[in-house]
Amino acid sequence: MRDAEAVTFGSAGLDRASGLRAKPEALAALLKRPDARVLPLWQGLVPVVEGRPVGETGPIGETGPIGKRGPIGETGLVTVSPGHPALAEASGAPTLLGLDDGVPWFGADISAWSPDIADAAANAAFLDPREQRHPALPAESRFVELRAVMTRLTRREAEIAATARALFGWHATHGFCPRCGHASEPALGGWIRRCPNCRAEQYPRTDPVVIMLITRGDRVLLGRSAAWPQGMYSLLAGFIEPGETVEAAVRREVLEEAGVRVGAVQYLASQPWPFPASLMIGCRGEALSDAIEIDLAEIEDARWVSRQEMVDVLSGANPAIRPAREGAIAHFLIQRWMEDRLD
Ligand SMILES: [Zn+2]
Repeated sequence: MRDAEAVTFGSAGLDRASGLRAKPEALAALLKRPDARVLPLWQGLVPVVEGRPVGETGPIGETGPIGKRGPIGETGLVTVSPGHPALAEASGAPTLLGLDDGVPWFGADISAWSPDIADAAANAAFLDPREQRHPALPAESRFVELRAVMTRLTRREAEIAATARALFGWHATHGFCPRCGHASEPALGGWIRRCPNCRAEQYPRTDPVVIMLITRGDRVLLGRSAAWPQGMYSLLAGFIEPGETVEAAVRREVLEEAGVRVGAVQYLASQPWPFPASLMIGCRGEALSDAIEIDLAEIEDARWVSRQEMVDVLSGANPAIRPAREGAIAHFLIQRWMEDRLD
């Protein structure tokens, strides 16, 4: 697929500079640079300033101009300088996330910070309860769920935020050596964990998921999970199992969930989905059969939707079917299918 990277969280060309992770002196030198930016994450939430006019390039956070804000980007990540008071509760040294046109971006997990109760009560009066304000960050900034702002960040900032969220989420849930059970420690600049007892090394986990645009002539197969918002339908998806190819996982999941047999399968695009650690592998598949037989243990409903119907679904005019969330690869693939741009 030609514009596969246009998906939300697609690669925007961040230089991950992985060769520097094993060089403590180089990392220390980057941290001393006046343009170094540190993105604090708190319990998986990212700090943002919203409502910035599109195209504005003024200062944000503590470290100055953000530059090159794109057509999306009316929401900006808030970063601070290394050593800023907002990083007082950071779990360790900042992790180098990459170089953004030469500007070093670090991440720091400040989940240990607990909001002052008085602040929290004051915040509750005017903030979404899932949002939080840190007293050391700019007054207009908020910690928010990344999914709520992912389509409004610049592509580069979305890539950085997704990387940080996935990485810190992994550290937070993988504190012990899976081989001997001893507490493990971050190493390689925060990109692996090493066991001081048996020396085993663990790498950040990414779980592959297939998500598939299954078509039969002019129609696409959509399904819904009982846990989703009412009326929302999306592409079928499922985790790849050990010992399974992408193609086999597509065919198995569609047969299991909807009873539809699938022939040719083709890879289209992928999307890092750090909620908490998935890699969505988007494929197209040709159905060999029409009849739908739902496995109610997996999904609540599945149906074939024609292109004509999909016009109304995407515009919100279909009373029975609400489309997949904008920013999700399902939405991206369905839109490209509608526009005949899957190649
Ligand atoms: Zn161990």
